[in-house]
Amino acid sequence: MKCPGCGANIQFEDPKKPGYIPREAFEKRLEEGKEILCQRCFRIKHYGKLEPIEYDWDFRNQLKSYLGGFEVVLWVIDIFDFEGTYREDIANLLEGKDVVYVINKLDLLPRAVTVKEVKEWVKKRIKAKDPERIRIVSAEKNYGLKSLVKLLARLTDKALVIGVTNVGKSSLLNRICTHENTISSFPGTTLGILRRKVKGENLYLYDTPGIMTKDRILDLLDPECQKTILPKEELSRKTFKPERNRTIFMGGLCRFDVDYETERSPIFLLFSSREVTFHETRRERADELMKNRLGDLLKPPCSKARYEDFTWKKEKFVLNEGEELAVAGLGWMSVRRGPLTVEVTVPENVKLVVREALV
Ligand code: GDP
Repeated sequence: MKCPGCGANIQFEDPKKPGYIPREAFEKRLEEGKEILCQRCFRIKHYGKLEPIEYDWDFRNQLKSYLGGFEVVLWVIDIFDFEGTYREDIANLLEGKDVVYVINKLDLLPRAVTVKEVKEWVKKRIKAKDPERIRIVSAEKNYGLKSLVKLLARLTDKALVIGVTNVGKSSLLNRICTHENTISSFPGTTLGILRRKVKGENLYLYDTPGIMTKDRILDLLDPECQKTILPKEELSRKTFKPERNRTIFMGGLCRFDVDYETERSPIFLLFSSREVTFHETRRERADELMKNRLGDLLKPPCSKARYEDFTWKKEKFVLNEGEELAVAGLGWMSVRRGPLTVEVTVPENVKLVVREALV
């Protein structure tokens, strides 16, 4: 039996895969003689919201099939979590398309950072050939959206919109589109996508499901906790000038053991959401805190979690002045006086990247 919305085979086993519907819901609707849509299409139809989908082999193929119908792709990326939301594997799939890179959430950066600086920084890190195609915006503050729409309308009358979860893709589309939604299916694909009309333009944007990643700290938190931890206003930052043998926590899921050979201690800043606790302690106490204070003194996680609930890894870095160590889905460390050696402890899959300073 196929879902009439997207054409996927109806199944009861895996909520993350196409065609899923809870068995009870299926039986109830069958009994009542109502249309049987898969859960995803049901939610699209009734709430105008696409369910996120895992970025697995199947989705990659789906994305390829959608791409066939579009010349222009709008890729929404989060400046707060560039490493977690700009992905090489996606960039490779977009080869040959006219990609507009929408760098969202500008409002989270300190005001001292200019749009021009952000754009320069992004330009060095992505595959855009034309700087015109990099747009720095804030969906929240309605910044940069008008000129984005103008650019798109100049390029095309339809574009595909993609992005990993929580980058603000829905917020952006809600700002620039009307409330008309149509589920569209594409030959060779099983996931319906949502067609939306841009206000005041002969331009349609096709919204795809948010892509779920597995290597951001955010991905390890329950949905309620994600909501609290996602930064809503300018990031909090704190300066550290640690003595020897100190440990600094950025929440409970990221620990920095800092060392240095120089006489003067290094100086660095941490940047993260205001809901993330920064905590400095003696190295001897750090293990105990990690074992007993996750979700309490050290947030995220948001509720009491056990050290054993996670599989941890340790990675060592030597950072110089002007470099940052980004922790995907959480924040970053920015070095102001180096060099410093840091051993980072995070859950196993979490992506750690050394980069040129953004701030
Ligand atoms: P989606 O999963 O990509 O569709 O993301 P949403 O639109 O649901 O947004 C995820 C979170 O980011 C929500 O809490 C939004 O309020 C927030 N958000 C979206 N755009 C912005 C922005 O420009 N600035 C800030 N500070 N937050 C934003």
